[in-house]
This record gives sequence, structure tokens and C-alpha cells, in this order.
Amino acid sequence: MTSTSVVSDYQVVLDRIRLATQQVGRKPASVRLLAVSKTHTAAAVARLYALGQRAFGENYLQDALPKITELIDLELEWHFIGHIQSNKTREIAKYFHWAHSVDRFKIASRLSQQRPSGMDPLNICLQINLDHESGKSGLDSTQLIALAQRLQPLSGVRLRGIMVIPKPRKGFEQQLGGFQRAQVLFHRLQRELPGIDTLSMGMSGDLEAAIAAGSTLVRVGTAIFGQRSLKMRSTIDV
Ligand SMILES: *Cc1c(COP(=O)(O)O)cnc(C)c1O
Repeated sequence: MTSTSVVSDYQVVLDRIRLATQQVGRKPASVRLLAVSKTHTAAAVARLYALGQRAFGENYLQDALPKITELIDLELEWHFIGHIQSNKTREIAKYFHWAHSVDRFKIASRLSQQRPSGMDPLNICLQINLDHESGKSGLDSTQLIALAQRLQPLSGVRLRGIMVIPKPRKGFEQQLGGFQRAQVLFHRLQRELPGIDTLSMGMSGDLEAAIAAGSTLVRVGTAIFGQRSLKMRSTIDV
């Protein structure tokens, strides 16, 4: 992957987002792009930063921390999007601005307690297991409102919305169905609680359908940075 192709691939993704919003009468600025830099280098992140990208997503702490440390002088916004284990919450609370993959009270509570004083609350999304896939992260949608309400007193986190990774489906119409179910949940959450503004859904292969269903943040890796190495892919894309 040469830097020139990252530059042009980034432009292609920005164009896809713009076109997808226009096609459903939304403003391009209503969708944020999270560049998923997992497995890619700090240099690749810095190149995108030079093009104006600020928000980057990582799903492995041990892969992310060296990059975050190396690029500490850049004004980057780091989003944790991987499964969160209890023993990782302290560093996530310290080094990240967002965590998209909260699915248990215990995790939210630890993130809140461990958020260093003097920092703004950590922005969090609740991850929902939309297709009831066993072995996958995410809470059952029937638990969403109750858990969201339980988080309200936690001062170190700020609930912003929901995150979903639907089962991979081919074709716009098939993808749209899953995303629309997430949109219904998002609107329900918005009616229950203040400050809910983030519907995190859509990746390289389905961002158009996600945007048609109201996504406010798409998480895009491969379409910007190219394929991840096979070795890494087998362990993280589960
Ligand atoms: C890897 C990953 C992405 C990006 O997927 P691509 O298909 O490479 O765009 C998005 N969200 C999560 C949670 C991921 O782990």
C-alpha cells in the first residue's frame, strides 16, 4: 500500500459518504467518518491526519497504545471499537475519547470510575447484538433502555448512542433491513434520554445502506487503508 493510494482511497470514501447522504436527502456533515486504523501504522494515521482526518478507531489495546503514544502531539480523537474486557478498562478510560462497544453495566461502571479526573467524560455507545449471534459482543435489544437508564448517574461516562455490527449481508436491500432495526432502537433511546446523538453503524462494505438508515458515524477500515494482513484478520474480525 503506497501513501498515494491511501490518499486516493480516502477521497473515494469521502465521496461515497457524500453521495450516500445526498441520495437520501441528508447533509454530508450529518455523518462522521471514523477511520479504522487497526493493524495499520502510526505513519498511516499521520498521513490521514495531514488530509484533515481526526477520528481514528482501534480494537486492540496492545496495537493501539504505541500509536496513541507516538502521535500524542497530534490532535487526534481515539475511538475504542473492540470487545472490552474488564482488565482493559483502565487504559481505555485513560487513552481514548470514545468507547463504542460497551455492553455491560460493569464495564461502563469501571470506565466511569477509572476515567482520570480533569478529563471530559468518556463518550460511550452501547453495542447491540442485532442478529442475536451467539458468541458475539453486544447486549440484547430488549435490555437497551434499562441499561441506558442505569448508566445515567455515572459521572465519568456520557452515553451518546448505540453501535451495531450486523451480520454481513450482500446487497443494499438486505443490508438496509438490519440497519433500520437499529434505527428504530436509536430513536426509542432518543425519546427516553437526553444527549443521544450517535448511531454508529456502517463499514467498508455497507456504509451506503447504513447512511440510508440514519447512521451518524461510519467506521471504515479496509476501504481507506487496504486489506489487513491475514494473520491479524483471523484474530480480530470475529
Ligand atoms: C474492523 C472494524 C471495522 C472496519 O471494518 P472494514 O470492513 O475494514 O471497513 C468497523 N467496525 C469494527 C467494530 C471493526 O472491528
